[in-house]
Amino acid sequence: MKGEAVLRPGATIGILGGGQLGRMLATAAAELGFRCHVYCPDGESPAFDVAAARTVAAYENEAALAAFAGSVDVVTYEFENVPSATADFLGAQVDVLPGPRALAVSQDRLSEKELMQGLGIPVAPFAAVDDLAGLEAALERLGRPSILKTRRFGYDGKGQVAIRAGDDAAAAFAAIAGKPAVLEGFVTFAREVSALVVRGRNGETAVYDIVENVHRNHILATSTVPAKLAEATAEAARGIAAKVAEALDYVGLLAVEMFVVEADGEERLLVNEIAPRVHNSGHWTQDGCLVSQFENHIRAIAGWPLGSTIRHSDAVMTNLVGAEADEWQRLAAEPGARLHLYGKAESRPGRKMGHVNRIAPRQQG
Ligand code: AMP
Repeated sequence: MKGEAVLRPGATIGILGGGQLGRMLATAAAELGFRCHVYCPDGESPAFDVAAARTVAAYENEAALAAFAGSVDVVTYEFENVPSATADFLGAQVDVLPGPRALAVSQDRLSEKELMQGLGIPVAPFAAVDDLAGLEAALERLGRPSILKTRRFGYDGKGQVAIRAGDDAAAAFAAIAGKPAVLEGFVTFAREVSALVVRGRNGETAVYDIVENVHRNHILATSTVPAKLAEATAEAARGIAAKVAEALDYVGLLAVEMFVVEADGEERLLVNEIAPRVHNSGHWTQDGCLVSQFENHIRAIAGWPLGSTIRHSDAVMTNLVGAEADEWQRLAAEPGARLHLYGKAESRPGRKMGHVNRIAPRQQG
């Protein structure tokens, strides 16, 4: 249905994408009395196990998309690379939230940075790169080291290559297959943080406490709250997230990843990227807050009042990547730890299999 402002319990939420984020969204939706219909091209998707209905079909299959749209009351997505044509096709029949602008902006690193600039939000120095001559000119301007990133379809460090002193520009451009890209100046950051903001259909906004993230091999390893930040910096980070959500007329949960740079005893924030969905750095909210990011995303798209984003506990979320999830027995027995597993049949190196939230009474912040 289109334009339905408030969904009643019993309504069906359509989710594009069947990974662990879809699985945790579906579980949270079920706790509020909703049904979920998961649409994913991969028949082995972990979200199918916990969904009331499933469609296994390509994102280009219009007959399957039309049937899906006819069976749900709202559509959301759990990853940002849903083709825009798919979202537009569904959008003619049913509300798709977050809306098309959020999807378009976050699918393209250049649009993302231009949006930030337009809002007066600092980003790393960057230049658009369309060909080798453009890359050479950008390297002249931004210097080395710098990072070349494809504009589209990058995640977990895929589609990016560092260019250091002495590295060959042509080889770097070939490494990203000559795709349209942006070159970014290398940021010597003290920390990486993220802000998770949720915005309702009526424009009501709530922000979770700022999270400190550590990556290993380009994959998120841990998220810790509270982040080690001056209160003024944390407040500024929350303000940036709210401003971006407002500018995109966003509905749902939005993640904004930022670098914290320290100079002369001052902390400065630079936005790295945004994700128009629930985010790995928000998994701690399942056990550190009254209402998790997953439930708040569902509340927002359903037109419900937002739930409290207040942190009742300190938390460290650790991803279980590849064989790390084989430790489930030990982790399940660990006091103060809450284990979440995604039900993936096969553990592969680099594959996110689950996470563990280690919780302690709130100390500060
Ligand atoms: P991204 O795919 O843009 O999220 O980048 C993945 C990770 O690479 C980030 O979380 C940082 O740890 C690192 N990184 C990305 N861009 C830069 C940059 N401009 N300077 C320094 N490190 C970066």
